[in-house]
Amino acid sequence: MRAFSPGPQVQKLTTALLKSHYSHQLPSTAMAMCSSFCPQIPNQLKARPICPFTPKPLFSLSVKALSSQASNASAKADGLSARIGFLGLGIMGSPMAQNLIKAGCDVTVWNRTKSKCDPLISLGAKYKSSPQEVAVSCDVTFAMLADPESAVEVACGKHGAASGMSSGKGYVDVSTVDGATAKLIGGHIRATGASFLEAPVSGSKKPAEDGQLIFLTAGDKSLYEMTAPLFDIMGKSRFYLGDVGNGAAMKLVVNMIMGSMMASFSEGLLLSEKVGLDPSVLVEVVSQGAISAPMYSTKGPSMIQSLYPTAFPLKHQQKDLRLALGLAESVSQPTPIAAAANELYKVAKSGGLSDQDFSAVIEALKAKLQKPAK
Ligand code: NAP
Repeated sequence: MRAFSPGPQVQKLTTALLKSHYSHQLPSTAMAMCSSFCPQIPNQLKARPICPFTPKPLFSLSVKALSSQASNASAKADGLSARIGFLGLGIMGSPMAQNLIKAGCDVTVWNRTKSKCDPLISLGAKYKSSPQEVAVSCDVTFAMLADPESAVEVACGKHGAASGMSSGKGYVDVSTVDGATAKLIGGHIRATGASFLEAPVSGSKKPAEDGQLIFLTAGDKSLYEMTAPLFDIMGKSRFYLGDVGNGAAMKLVVNMIMGSMMASFSEGLLLSEKVGLDPSVLVEVVSQGAISAPMYSTKGPSMIQSLYPTAFPLKHQQKDLRLALGLAESVSQPTPIAAAANELYKVAKSGGLSDQDFSAVIEALKAKLQKPAK
């Protein structure tokens, strides 16, 4: 059997993405690493909230430079003057749409639970009552849904976005799904003549609020080029990874590693306490050594207090592990650590922790969650 050796680019990219999930206050390692994949965004071109409806000359310049190679990017508009739809206003979708609105973009929103649209409407967003109507009225429609089922439902279901798509429009799915789902959705969208891009994000609630996400895009390059200025409003970097499925795969690998890291960290915190150490000191020691990660410093202190304010819901972390295990199985790659971690998240889910932050997985290691044997 041929030994697999990831190239240095892949190693660098994976490291950068892992560091960046919680790195909104950290040095720009990820930015430095990605220079060969994506244009870095000079600070002066980064999104700064501006008064809606004011022109943004800096962005116009950036659009021009990035879209110079575009072949058939939406004939109607560049990314910034496009009418933008946003479907799915949960923890991630709401701040992402908000940043687009604050940057002066023309945004139309829809969410299954309508009340979540209200704060955005009060900021200037328009509202349509179905994904189909959003797609009809917009040039580019973003979707940030919970999981494969909801992503398919919103894109391809009755009154779904695909039924409002046509040539010249674009659909960008930023949800975390598996490659097969991304291809299924892409197929439905492209069948209408529209363009499709998958663009799952690395980064959590705070990076979404701060416009510091990392976009892992794949699909129609012309749509990527056209929407690049919009990614630059919502994020700090973007990668174009080729064919649909590659964005999903990259995202799942990153979150597979993250899920295992969190499970292992949980074990360490509890073990340190049981042998009489102060877990806060463990967090400090970890933060100064080679295994330091922003995630540990950010989540550790609240985990010690058994507090799990939700940034990344535990149910989504378990979903990502499940999908990553499916990806690994599809290529016969052993992933025993991730499989064990997945079991722990399943225990946490069945203990009622689905909507808590994924750091609540530590509770699955505490005696009270484990049911006594009959
Ligand atoms: P969330 O807060 O749970 O939001 C999920 C969104 O999906 C909500 O708008 C929800 O609508 C909608 N939805 C769920 N089921 C639906 C259905 N059957 N039909 C229509 N809409 C449905 O999740 P999130 O944290 O924003 O995450 C969204 C996606 O981003 C997930 O794929 C997640 O894995 C990924 N992600 C999350 C993070 C993070 O840190 N949170 C980071 C990176 C990636 P309602 O409001 O009506 O429930």
